[in-house]
Amino acid sequence: MAALMCKPILFVAILSFQLTGCVGEPPEEPFHEPPLTEEERAQLPDDSLPDHEHTDEVLVSGPAEDDAAIFDDDDAFAPYDVAVVDDDDDEQPMTGGQLYALLRWGLHPRASDGLRAAGVASWRITQTIGNAPASAGYHAQDGSVNGQPYTAATDLSTSGMTATQIHNLLERLAKVGFAAWYRKNGVDGWSGANHIHVVYANCKMKSQLRAQVRSFLVGRNGLVSNRVYTWHTFSAAAKAAVQRKFNQSQQGTSNGGAGVSARINTSGAPLTVRAGASTTSAAVGSRADGAYVTITCQKRGQSVTGTYGTSTLWDYIGSGYVADAYVMTGSDGQVAPTCP
Ligand SMILES: [Zn+2]
Repeated sequence: MAALMCKPILFVAILSFQLTGCVGEPPEEPFHEPPLTEEERAQLPDDSLPDHEHTDEVLVSGPAEDDAAIFDDDDAFAPYDVAVVDDDDDEQPMTGGQLYALLRWGLHPRASDGLRAAGVASWRITQTIGNAPASAGYHAQDGSVNGQPYTAATDLSTSGMTATQIHNLLERLAKVGFAAWYRKNGVDGWSGANHIHVVYANCKMKSQLRAQVRSFLVGRNGLVSNRVYTWHTFSAAAKAAVQRKFNQSQQGTSNGGAGVSARINTSGAPLTVRAGASTTSAAVGSRADGAYVTITCQKRGQSVTGTYGTSTLWDYIGSGYVADAYVMTGSDGQVAPTCP
């Protein structure tokens, strides 16, 4: 429950798939990341290592442009500030339990909704999952949602767009949680076809993509050269939005599955996670005040009075249940499917 957030959270809990993405205009040839040299490959983080974050520093070296705020887990903003409204039916924004079809196969449902919110039509999406050797693994599968594969990396066509429109789109993409770069041939260390490469920050992703998001957050190009990105200068608000999404996925290491992102608010004490929807159920863990969680389902149980009033709703957050009365979900009602 959350009286503090005015706008409804409209994220997908379950999804349906749209396997064909053609809407009117023909899709273009897929773009691919450039092949890496052997030397560059040797610098890539090794997925087999237990601690990816430290090896990723290989890709994000040198002085950071804005280092102080970058890894700050705290923020004063509501988790979402962009309402996702279906283009096809503006009268009926999605509510808990309703679903949007994926804009394109291979997208994470939250990324799909984000692209929709940024105004990206499905035909502009030229690559989601792709295992072409030229992509150097960046577009390989990151995980799956409801049994369907996704990658956090997506390529967008800039066909027909002016430079100003591309600048504006980059800002919009960042503000809904995408690390985004316009890859322009000959600029910022890129050689190859012009396109926009984005990484959705609020989902589990491979270490290469986590390194790209970190690179974005310090104003760099996300390529192995990790140069300062010059084609577009992102606003502080845009960077902060990507940082918030990245925090929600614990720097790209969680939130792989579908679910509704929410935040614990106890006004101080940690919130106990329980095996069932009752304070008499066994404690199985706890979450700090302010922690981001992903709710995958909800059910009714013992009535609890908390920060957001009294409720019988309990939220399943992967390891157990927490009382919804202490969770900012953006809604006073149920926002996720009913737990079995
Ligand atoms: Zn790409």
